[in-house]
Amino acid sequence: MNPEITSSPDLKASASVTFESLGLRPELLSAITAQGYTMPTPIQTGAIPLVFEGRDLLAGAQTGTGKTAAFALPIVQRLSEKTPKEKRRKPRALVLVPTRELAAQVSEEMNVYARRLALRSTMIYGGVTIQAQIERLHRGVDIVVATPGRLLDHAERRTIDLSRIEVLVLDEADRMLDLGFIDDIRQVAEYLPPRRQTLLFSATYSKEIKQLADQLLNKPQRIEVARSNIAADAVTQAIYEVERSRKREMISFLIRKGGWNQVLVFARTRYGADKLTEELLYDGIKAAAIHSNKSQSIRTRTLAEFKRGDFRVLVATDVAARGLDIERLPHVVNYDLPQVPEDYVHRIGRTGRAGEDGVALSLVSLEEKPLLAAIEKLLTYKIPRQTLEEFPVTAARRSARVQALKKEVVQVKARKKQDKVAQDPARKTAPRRNKVVPERPAPKTGRRGSRS
Ligand code: ADP
Ligand code: MG
Repeated sequence: MNPEITSSPDLKASASVTFESLGLRPELLSAITAQGYTMPTPIQTGAIPLVFEGRDLLAGAQTGTGKTAAFALPIVQRLSEKTPKEKRRKPRALVLVPTRELAAQVSEEMNVYARRLALRSTMIYGGVTIQAQIERLHRGVDIVVATPGRLLDHAERRTIDLSRIEVLVLDEADRMLDLGFIDDIRQVAEYLPPRRQTLLFSATYSKEIKQLADQLLNKPQRIEVARSNIAADAVTQAIYEVERSRKREMISFLIRKGGWNQVLVFARTRYGADKLTEELLYDGIKAAAIHSNKSQSIRTRTLAEFKRGDFRVLVATDVAARGLDIERLPHVVNYDLPQVPEDYVHRIGRTGRAGEDGVALSLVSLEEKPLLAAIEKLLTYKIPRQTLEEFPVTAARRSARVQALKKEVVQVKARKKQDKVAQDPARKTAPRRNKVVPERPAPKTGRRGSRS
């Protein structure tokens, strides 16, 4: 595959482009206005004409760049041009997304446009009973937004007929691969007609994404939108260097002092997320955790509560955060840096969405310096460092800490040596009865209850 690279549509160039000039129907233009969009975003400017042309598309775009409308609008318009007469229609467009949350968002927006042109769109995802989905599919739909696993389930049971699909969209393809959907996607593709249009959206390009694109796309046009500098444009980033043991104190301080009321905090592990949540609650800051150990219904409810403003801090792991759409989220905090540099870009993509300003802070301990270096290499720039008077991490303090640690080690070693010398002769003679707590429970002898 050798995709043609179109120039990256930058914001200035797209300033003169309107939704109207992209050739969208009046019904859609009014839907767009109702959505509150005035100008197309760069990915929309780039993708909409190509989708109209029927070209395959390999698009690099971060979250928050407006991908949904970039494919939903032209797809809906194209399908509406030749809607079959019958009621029980077979789906003609299929959008694959990594998570149920994302399916809900994409489906919601898709519906806004589809309804205007008398098209039906439905959502298919796992974790719920299949029957209602089967019935809806049976009644006839034009567009299906689905997670790969459940869709494959339907395809295998023949409760969905994918033979009429004209357009396939892979939204957040890199996420789908991360979540292990590669085989499901390949198998779904077997059910699709080979002559179709395929659009692949991904924030990052790994070897796996390229392979997938090679298999599924046909001479794609490639669009790159505001690669990593989207972060620099819409999001104010800062690094706070802090000792690991003081991170939790610092985050409470930042939230309180800044008067932040809606903060998304990323923790590395599920355990870490739960622990931090508890600690924030202990500090009197309303918080809740969202991670993959929680059931889907709890995750959905927690997110809804957070959006409503029922609590201030949502602590999430990367997996749980995939596909979260929280509009105008002002603050994102990396309590731990991600292990994968690309995840940093995803995380901070949760703020400063579509033109809104956002702040993304990272608390970085000494141990995380290599991770930070990897992130900055990916971004190709250094993230500004900031300090707090209350949390001085000066070179002097750091070296004092290192000195103290060294001293401690020397002392411990010396003490051990002393103990050894002092204990050795004593050990043999130490009376056994000094041992108060037996290390193991006494072995059970005889039958249960034989002694009592
Ligand atoms: P992505 O899929 O790239 O993460 P979305 O399609 O979810 O992005 O859009 C991100 C946010 O930007 C949403 O809240 C959406 O409503 C808004 N948005 C999308 N397009 C526009 C536009 N042209 N003008 C203003 N806001 C937009
Ligand atoms: Mg999206």
